[in-house]
Amino acid sequence: MGEAPAFYVDDMQRNFSNGLDLKLKGFETFVVIGNKTYVIGGTDDPTSVGIRILNNLTGEWVVPTILGTKPKALKGHSCVRLNKDRILIIAHNSKSDESVWFLEVDTQFVRDQKNIFGTEVVAWSKGVIGNTERPVVISGPSGVGKGTLINMLMNDYPTMFGFSVSHTTRAPREKEQNGVHYHFTKHNVMEEEIKSGKFLEFAAVHGNLYGTSVEAVDVVADAGKRCILDIDVQGARSVRASSLDAIFIFVCPPSFEELENRLRARGTETQEQIQKRLRNAKAELEEGRTSGIFDHILVNDDLEACYERLKNILGIRESSNAAQKTSSKVFDLPTDLSLSKVDEKVIINCGPAEQKVVLDLSSIKGGAPGRTRGLDLYAVDHLTENVHGCDY
Ligand code: ADP
Ligand code: 5GP
Repeated sequence: MGEAPAFYVDDMQRNFSNGLDLKLKGFETFVVIGNKTYVIGGTDDPTSVGIRILNNLTGEWVVPTILGTKPKALKGHSCVRLNKDRILIIAHNSKSDESVWFLEVDTQFVRDQKNIFGTEVVAWSKGVIGNTERPVVISGPSGVGKGTLINMLMNDYPTMFGFSVSHTTRAPREKEQNGVHYHFTKHNVMEEEIKSGKFLEFAAVHGNLYGTSVEAVDVVADAGKRCILDIDVQGARSVRASSLDAIFIFVCPPSFEELENRLRARGTETQEQIQKRLRNAKAELEEGRTSGIFDHILVNDDLEACYERLKNILGIRESSNAAQKTSSKVFDLPTDLSLSKVDEKVIINCGPAEQKVVLDLSSIKGGAPGRTRGLDLYAVDHLTENVHGCDY
């Protein structure tokens, strides 16, 4: 049999479930995982999504630290326990591309954050329908040509790629625009934001702070584009250890002399800054080649030839420009729906008409603090869909 569905609050369940007095209010629902009962939607304000957790053994309530991007409002939702790590939440009365949310309660990210915060932690992650390609992390020493290659990709395939706009404490160069090339910020502001969990990764590079915010990656995923991150080797290492399932590419110069020539010819740094960047380049090149972080090493000798190799790695054919992804169909989900889980699929039973929509979770990737990608959503004729073991 499939797993028991989570409970949507109705009058019978409002105050009593599983022998526990939950005193559920308004739009609250609950899911039991192990010895804990997670109550979702738990604030007096129905437009704000709170979480409270009951320890079923001791009867104690805890309000956890809530991380990730949470839904703005859940005026009615259904939820189901997916496994011991996470809960699936489907918002009622919404467009299907806005309706799928995950509450992570025991993933690696949540366990790490519990150690950092020393509190109970849960983390929201929004579900993205459809299969955008894996994000691309591009690293390499300053002046090697990362920005040039990324610009070529973005110009040739503007609907396919989106750039993750990093935060930095360094001063803008002449032609750089705030919010386009970087989010330029102050050191103390960025430090505070790092503490509050805003960044997927961050590092001190050439004497300044640089970091990729969770939001920078999410806005690209939400636009259905493949995200490109231009980050240093330390950042690449952090992303490797995160939930972002990316391709890692390291760009090398043909020689150290050529790197120096390019950096000087670019003319954007002072003599002192160039020296610092060249000193750091030695260690970066060594790490790039030997650390095992990178899936591909690209030598940027002839620019056009290197660009062709990059496109090959990314699986871009000349026809790719025209062959844009067909976006998944968007459904209107009603106010009245229930969920049943069968293996790695969740059947969304939609209201009196009994239309069924299947959410296939077999290829999910990513997760908090970013989006959960790789979801497939499709309507089925309930007479033909194989839903054996489903308990509705
Ligand atoms: P990065 O983003 O890695 O710091 P840039 O893309 O800014 O490097 O490139 C540094 C300089 O080198 C720029 O002036 C750029 O035009 C030039 N450049 C990039 N690739 C090549 C190449 N293959 N051959 C010669 N010059 C290049
Ligand atoms: P620049 O100052 O030349 O724009 O960038 C200097 C270095 O910082 C480059 O190696 C670039 O890849 C790296 N960098 C840019 N943004 C980020 C970021 O968000 N995180 C990390 N870790 N490095 C970054």
